[in-house]
Amino acid sequence: MIGVNPEGDARAIFNATDIDKLTIPLWVFDADNSRVVWANQEACRLWQADSMEELCLRDLSADISSAVKERLQQYKNNTPDTDRTFHELWTLYPEGVARTYRIAICGHELPDGRMGLRIEALAESKEAPVQLRSAEALNHIKIGISLFDLAGEPLYSNVAAHKMYGSALPSLKQRFVKDSDYHFILSSIQESESASKICQVQTSEGKRWHELSIMRCFDGPTGKPAFMLSETDVTKLKEKEAKARYLAHFDLLTGLHNRNYVNSHYPAIIEDAIENEERQVIMVIDLDHFKSINETLGHSTGDALLRHVAKSLQRFFGKDAHIARLGGDEFVIVAPFTSSFLLDEQCQAILTAITTECHADGHLVNANASIGIALCPEHGTDLPTLLQHCDLALHDAKNCGRDTYRYYRPSLQKAAIAKRNLENDLLAAIERKEFRLFYQPRVDCQSQQVVSAEALIRWQHPQRGLISPGEFIEALEDTGLIHQVGDWLIEQVGLDQQFLQRNGHCFPISINISPKQFERSDFVRRLKMGLARSHCPAKYIEIEITESMLMGVGFDAKSVLIDLRREGFSIAVDDFGTGYSNLAYIQEYPISSLKVDRSFINMIEDQSSVVNLILSLCRLIGVTAVAEGVENVDQLAWLQMNHCDQYQGFFFSRPIPLDDMLTLLNSSHSSSMQHSIPDILDAEVIWA
Ligand code: C2E
Ligand code: CA
Ligand code: CA
Repeated sequence: MIGVNPEGDARAIFNATDIDKLTIPLWVFDADNSRVVWANQEACRLWQADSMEELCLRDLSADISSAVKERLQQYKNNTPDTDRTFHELWTLYPEGVARTYRIAICGHELPDGRMGLRIEALAESKEAPVQLRSAEALNHIKIGISLFDLAGEPLYSNVAAHKMYGSALPSLKQRFVKDSDYHFILSSIQESESASKICQVQTSEGKRWHELSIMRCFDGPTGKPAFMLSETDVTKLKEKEAKARYLAHFDLLTGLHNRNYVNSHYPAIIEDAIENEERQVIMVIDLDHFKSINETLGHSTGDALLRHVAKSLQRFFGKDAHIARLGGDEFVIVAPFTSSFLLDEQCQAILTAITTECHADGHLVNANASIGIALCPEHGTDLPTLLQHCDLALHDAKNCGRDTYRYYRPSLQKAAIAKRNLENDLLAAIERKEFRLFYQPRVDCQSQQVVSAEALIRWQHPQRGLISPGEFIEALEDTGLIHQVGDWLIEQVGLDQQFLQRNGHCFPISINISPKQFERSDFVRRLKMGLARSHCPAKYIEIEITESMLMGVGFDAKSVLIDLRREGFSIAVDDFGTGYSNLAYIQEYPISSLKVDRSFINMIEDQSSVVNLILSLCRLIGVTAVAEGVENVDQLAWLQMNHCDQYQGFFFSRPIPLDDMLTLLNSSHSSSMQHSIPDILDAEVIWA
């Protein structure tokens, strides 16, 4: 159409001959192509064109501001008929110079059937630059501005509002998704000059969240009262808000409520129940050995397992309970309490549901859990107390072998307080240097010569006297103080070994290592450093570790043992027979002695075949067999007869202080007399 016989088209468009005589610039614009398709002489003058042909060939996109361009497109879309005329103040840029005009626009069908625009530039406006600028600004701003009459029918919408609602220009009421929001806005504006609300509106892009602000005003041209609505799209903000709210209160992995939610909402749930005199049960559920599942099967399996547990709990309780994940592998449930009988059944059922085989991330996982229970109001009336009591009960369940449930009882609290006091006392004990080392000789079964000694720790308590390790090792481990004590111990053992050596008794001393020490990456380094301070060579130190430590999951026990060996330490497996009894690794690991647990020696009559098997194994792989807890001559006789290498026990000596040890060693002649054993034949009679 462009440039094709424009004069002929103009006649076709207007059917008038004297149109060129008009003093008003008038042109027909093809908004799709930003080109004039017809212009009268005044229009050519306005655009500073020599002729209409020249004007029609111009691409006007550069001469029209982007706001006007958008506006033209809207007019084109909004004026399918030619009846409506719009008036506006415009800035045009003929030949790059800004000029202002009062523009009248109406639709005009182009010869090819598309909708064009007939534009009259009524008069060059000189009087209202501010008005003009504000009109321009209105078209530029991203805030949607619309004017409505009092019935809510649209009078005007700026470019942004047009973009929001398209060409249909809905009424005020039609814009709201919820009628209640519309009525709120209406009633608010009745009561005051303005109102605002964030609500959902029905835009051309679907439902969006808008921040609406409405105020009373007057329609300029008619002077009638009207509403001015300004609106901003806050959907993204709303979504972010909703996500933040979700993240704040929900656990992403399981979809259950999280600890935050528990802390902020559960107190009210508990308060309400107390007010309504309803009893509640609070359960804390913790998976058993979750850490090792995570470490051996991977974190995605761990995650899948947690989801399985969450689903099991939801399925089990339905809507009757509040279920949340407190973090890690810990869940909390608050539910109405009916009877202990029912609760016992419920707990059993939960444990069974969790234990039920779970296919997690391609693995078949068999998980167990322990449950700690507190009742409200009996065991507490506020969330922190109830949760603390659940934790104590849970700890009790774990101590009772796991895969079980336990109720809170006041004695647990007492034990917990005692433990806390003990932990504080231990800290003071380190400062006051109250730990002592006792030594128990290790003796050659045949020659009765002391060949080694085991260092056993004692606590010289200022009030309670000598305390044995069974009472405080666990607390040292729990508080992490074991590392500090371990540093002291290795140095002291080194010094004591050197002391004995100077006194003519040179043999290795063994020390006990707790799993917490063994699993630390700096274990071997600390040991070396402590020993270096005593100037004792590592070949005089044997490290005693238990079977379960050898099997340690999540870290490479074998490489630690190899490191130890490389440094010169020898290694003994302590309490042998009580752990996993996996004999395969014994051969594989660099172990020098195997200490048969006291329980076997204690019942050697019943266990003789087991002990014999262990002794054979030791002989087979060239490891020194040491019998622990030998208390009487019969036991020793049996061990001698069955070729056990060494023994330790009250029969030869209890653990004793270093000075006593020296005395014992110095009087070895008399002690060997004292510990002389019966004739081997008698022993055979006893154990035949
Ligand atoms: P353990 O390593 O098995 O040590 C042997 C324990 O058996 C010692 O108890 C010892 O007194 C006792 N015992 C020795 N012979 C006999 C006997 O003939 N009959 C009876 N009934 N008992 C006997 P103790 O000294 O009370 O130590 C208990 C446990 O505490 C030790 O068992 C060891 O696991 C741990 N322990 C001791 N000292 C340390 C230490 O320095 N560090 C660490 N981590 N643990 C230690
Ligand atoms: Ca030991
Ligand atoms: Ca032992």
